[in-house]
Amino acid sequence: MKTYKSTKSTLERILIETAVHCDFLCGEQLSGLSSDLSVGGMYLKTKNVLAIDKNMSLSFYLPFKDRKIAITCNARVAWTNYKCERLKWDYPPGAGLEFLSLSSQDSSLLSEFIDSYDELKKMNMTCAWCGKGLGMRKGPYGTTSHGICGQCKETHS
Ligand SMILES: [Zn+2]
Repeated sequence: MKTYKSTKSTLERILIETAVHCDFLCGEQLSGLSSDLSVGGMYLKTKNVLAIDKNMSLSFYLPFKDRKIAITCNARVAWTNYKCERLKWDYPPGAGLEFLSLSSQDSSLLSEFIDSYDELKKMNMTCAWCGKGLGMRKGPYGTTSHGICGQCKETHS
């Protein structure tokens, strides 16, 4: 298998919500959603307060070229973001997880996914005045942005 060489920095983060499952060494389990992802780690939204350095077996799925790829690795809680000790107020409560044992194959897939993610991002455009669909444009998947359609422009000019 050829190794995919990332064209972006390994610190580049993309905003993506994907289902994440954590199995802790003590037997506890936790499922949640990510809110960002990089080759080195991810941000997990959770109200469960996790201890820094807590280790886990982490698994998550990525929607990749019409299929879902499963990634499993060991990870640790690198930083936490709760209540008044939040480091990032624009993030929901949760924790930053650092990947510890990503296989070279998964690391390669992840780099490729992150590099191609911009092209996969599509948001709906609708006319702000009449609600007519204006097609898709680049943006966070599943969200809606507004423009003005040709007909409304004419009517209101
Ligand atoms: Zn319109």
